Amino acid sequence: MPETALQPWDVAAPERGGLPSAYGLLPEDLEALGAPGRPEHLFARLQRPASWRDGSPWLSKVARAWFEERFDLGLPAIAESLPSGDGSTKLVLELTDGKRIECVHMPRRVRNPRVTYCISSQVGCAMGCTFCATGSMGIVRNLSAGEIVGQVLGLMRDLGPAQSSQVTLVFMGMGEPLHNLENLHRAMRILCHKSGLDIPARRITVSTSGLVSGIEKLALMQPRPLLALSLNATTDAARSRTMPVNRVWNLARLRQALDAWGPRRNEKFTFEYVLLAGENDTEEDADRLADWLGDLRRSHNLNLIPMNEHAASDFHEPAEARIQAFAGRLKAHGCFVTVRRSRGRDVQAACGQLVKEKP
Ligand code: SF4
Repeated sequence: MPETALQPWDVAAPERGGLPSAYGLLPEDLEALGAPGRPEHLFARLQRPASWRDGSPWLSKVARAWFEERFDLGLPAIAESLPSGDGSTKLVLELTDGKRIECVHMPRRVRNPRVTYCISSQVGCAMGCTFCATGSMGIVRNLSAGEIVGQVLGLMRDLGPAQSSQVTLVFMGMGEPLHNLENLHRAMRILCHKSGLDIPARRITVSTSGLVSGIEKLALMQPRPLLALSLNATTDAARSRTMPVNRVWNLARLRQALDAWGPRRNEKFTFEYVLLAGENDTEEDADRLADWLGDLRRSHNLNLIPMNEHAASDFHEPAEARIQAFAGRLKAHGCFVTVRRSRGRDVQAACGQLVKEKP
């Protein structure tokens, strides 16, 4: 392409050696680049798989030639597809530089189909949570906005639904999304754009390990997604042991950042608490957790997720009686608590299990 400087659509220059993805472009980029056609119209053609022909955006010859000279019109390729007995499918996607990421397709409600896509924001992750398979990989690189959007478009094209009104997105795949905030938010602007998929921001959840600087920036951005927080411990000593991010931003600082976020009416935080046998599952932990939540405990969601065991971690799932006792204690404190069995456990697609093992 003629431009040599780093452009906003390929921040962090991810598609090394190749052209940047066309799916990371906003209408204003198309206008600034002089793309042949009305920018909003070209953007819609790129971003709505329901209008595609033969698996690719339906463009005039002139527009296709223009794009092909400057951008990559391909989507991350499905390298492996692993259907689970519970209806979800884990997909291993290959990026243009050969790196692999994972996402999960989770259909719900057969009569009134709704699909949740769990998508990735990075190849690997730098945060090093000790119970997490992705954390054991370390960070390889950030995904570009085009690669993040490309996961959604590819899932819609290959597994459906074609209509974005039935799609919910959760950034709970590989990576710490707020560690790649610039590309994450550009992807959100594209996915929420009226001329494209037009997914409402309230149907997008971003899950963080507690990167306070990112929470504070995202709080001020538009569109603003829902926030999920992976908590997993109730003392600073314990949390710093399993989640190194706590050594920089401790529990008190994290709680402050949530107050500053200022949830709007009907906007709920989701708190995730992975139950690790013998590590964070005592009644005292439940009491401290309720205390830390404070006034958030009654109106926001707290999900208890029994550990999904995997080879990269020594932690185990607590016994059922222990899980129920923990949940009961929190309910007695007035918490709005749900025990969640992650979907896709049989194909290593559940929370904390996403990792592309080396062949
Ligand atoms: S739990 Fe999330 S933030 Fe922690 S290492 Fe895993 S992917 Fe990264």
